Amino acid sequence: MHARPFANELRVAVAAVREAAALCRSVQSGLGREAMEKKDRSPVTVADFGSQALVCRALAESFLTDPVVAEEDSDALRLAENAPLRARVVSFARRFRTGDDQEILGWIDHGKPAGASGRFWTLDPIDGTKGFLRNEQYAVALALIVDGVIEVAALACPNLPTRAVDASPAGTVFSAVRGQGAWAVPLDLDASPVRVKVSDRDDASTAKFCESVESGHSAHGESASVAALLGIVSPPVRLDSQAKYAVVARGEADIYLRLPTRADYLEKIWDHAAGALVVTEAGGRVTDVAGLPLDFTRGHELSSNRGVVVTNGRLHDRVLDALKTVGVG
Ligand code: AMP
Ligand code: MG
Repeated sequence: MHARPFANELRVAVAAVREAAALCRSVQSGLGREAMEKKDRSPVTVADFGSQALVCRALAESFLTDPVVAEEDSDALRLAENAPLRARVVSFARRFRTGDDQEILGWIDHGKPAGASGRFWTLDPIDGTKGFLRNEQYAVALALIVDGVIEVAALACPNLPTRAVDASPAGTVFSAVRGQGAWAVPLDLDASPVRVKVSDRDDASTAKFCESVESGHSAHGESASVAALLGIVSPPVRLDSQAKYAVVARGEADIYLRLPTRADYLEKIWDHAAGALVVTEAGGRVTDVAGLPLDFTRGHELSSNRGVVVTNGRLHDRVLDALKTVGVG
């Protein structure tokens, strides 16, 4: 009997993001939540490094020769002035895996924030670090790309309840393999995955749209213009991270808009690969603001694209038309 394609990759990826999410939660519930500022002034925490260490270690164990394109590296952690931060990263990672300081820094550096081609993984160890710091939405996002095609996705959303009606803080893991549908399972239970599907909403005026909390990550003014043009009356749902892809994938929202805030920003592949496959496999559509497919053959940035538009599919062309009208598409 033949196993389904990428069954092993899926199993390893889901287990890896689950373990990383558990580390993120343990950081969140204890001390060490304070952030360090990176060169680009964005925050990074013990949990970003710890999550990357665990996921990279798991990938190296099962797929040693696969490159991992990941958001963080250990350079800052190796500086003498950051010894206290390094010690906390090591101690959190050791709650899950045995390894000495150098091994754990080495796991982090198994991932590199540089492009790769052929077959490689891409990882955002904590997508939505600002959401993590506010104890709101964040995600551990992992995808396997082969020759520019996203084949496998595992997306852990530790603060996203499994069901819309469920107010419990329990998180959800979304997963997808190209051609095999999109699935969700509670983060904490060994339950059978349930299939997720986008909404079948056809009437744009009743659509729900979501966008970044951070106005520096997506132009809120322009999305409001698009919404007005489509006759959408409900205000946008703002949430951090690829949890936005997840809520579109399971039909809780119909549209996710990520509109450029500046001409020179290029979207990073780790901010989109996992979420994009989950939405596509749930029956939705993902393009940039001009309607072009996201091009994952360009290294670690989506340098052929501008912004991102995610919908349930049915509403996609109308959203693209509205973007043209407001001068974004
Ligand atoms: P979100 O939580 O959706 O707001 O997205 C968080 C991600 O936004 C981070 O992982 C960053 O990689 C990314 N980011 C940083 N600056 C920008 C920007 N100017 N435009 C779009 N995304 C950005
Ligand atoms: Mg990110």
